[in-house]
Amino acid sequence: MASLILFPAKSVTGTRSETSPPGLLLSGGVGRRRSVFQVGFRNQRSFTVRSALDSLETNVSDMSVNAPNGLFPPEPEHYRGPKLKVAIIGAGLAGMSTAVELLDQGHEVDIYDSRSFIGGKVGSFVDRRGNHIEMGLHVFFGCYNNLFRLMKKVKQVSLVIVVGADKNLLVKDHTHTFVNMGGEIGELDFRFPIGAPLHGISAFLSTNQLKTYDIARNALALALSPVVKALVDPDGALRDIRNLDSISFSDWFLSKGGTRTSIQRMWDPVAYALGFIDCDNISARCMLTIFSLFATKTEASLLRMLKGSPDVYLSGPIRKYIEDKGGRFHLRWGCRQILYDRSQDGEIHVTGLAVSKVNASHFSSFRLD
Ligand SMILES: Cc1cc2nc3c(=O)[nH]c(=O)nc-3n(C[C@H](O)[C@H](O)[C@H](O)COP(=O)(O)OP(=O)(O)OC[C@H]3O[C@@H](n4cnc5c(N)ncnc54)[C@H](O)[C@@H]3O)c2cc1C
Repeated sequence: MASLILFPAKSVTGTRSETSPPGLLLSGGVGRRRSVFQVGFRNQRSFTVRSALDSLETNVSDMSVNAPNGLFPPEPEHYRGPKLKVAIIGAGLAGMSTAVELLDQGHEVDIYDSRSFIGGKVGSFVDRRGNHIEMGLHVFFGCYNNLFRLMKKVKQVSLVIVVGADKNLLVKDHTHTFVNMGGEIGELDFRFPIGAPLHGISAFLSTNQLKTYDIARNALALALSPVVKALVDPDGALRDIRNLDSISFSDWFLSKGGTRTSIQRMWDPVAYALGFIDCDNISARCMLTIFSLFATKTEASLLRMLKGSPDVYLSGPIRKYIEDKGGRFHLRWGCRQILYDRSQDGEIHVTGLAVSKVNASHFSSFRLD
């Protein structure tokens, strides 16, 4: 049986995001941030979550319709090659969604995570007193098609979860709230009788988060961006956006006439919410991909939240799906070393990895066949 090893994109050890207090999303003062893109529970003034039980709104719509090619790939075709024995390092969403796809294709999967609980940054666990401790409160944009597809799927073999886990989502009012220093509240209000792109244009033109001058300069920058092209040519727009990966959003935005005030009051909070970095560091590609989805799909900017802790409503159902299909979790097992050979021409070939129980002094090695 062939073997394959998959790693998390980066180790999370010591990242700033991990030090964020549980249950709080981006509401502390970090770095030079002036405003906060608020979706957490701490400030409830303009925050409403409607129950999904009496509403059809959690029936998430399929964002892949008319979306740019490759953004929301369909289920992979049935695999007919040899069965693989796969070790996945990291039981976060990336590792677990990979495990689901591999198990669906008939492969054998072992998942290793150095923590004592699954879910990674969107994980949670129950402490001795029965409290659900979350790594951080999460919101889910309507454009998280791949995640919603996974959530729908994990009902299929679960005996406990009798509906798709996508029904575990509550819909927030279609507004995004900014909490500024001193408690001043700003808002982007997407509630508008007509959908995309007019609801977005209305939200940006009427926001109290920016002054008229900054709104006008914002409009100019966005009018000159691939976001407008996305309305008529989503594939072409995405190609243009991908070419902007090496430029920061700040450099791109300022070069198109946007103002530093707009960055500080509106785009930095959004960038922090997307990636825990500001506009001087996040790529224009990342921000414009989201903007183009917001511009073309009414629901892309609509926020949903889990009904409760991820362990019950997200990672738990995924874990059950994985285990029911024969996948195995090895918690408190870390990858300590990547084993590799260097060929004569200097190329590096991964040959295996060394894993160990947390705090153990010696490793077990897995070698690729
Ligand atoms: C406080 C907070 C709030 C957030 N809010 C939102 C939000 O509202 N909306 C949103 O879309 N996103 C949000 N995010 C981001 C989101 O949680 C992440 O993008 C997503 O969960 C990343 O999943 P991942 O699987 O790629 O990585 P991770 O979740 O980081 O998973 C990686 C896993 O690999 C394990 N690991 C790493 N190195 C090793 C090793 N050497 N050996 C063994 N295991 C290893 C880690 O323990 C971890 O479990 C938030 C994140 C945080 C921390």
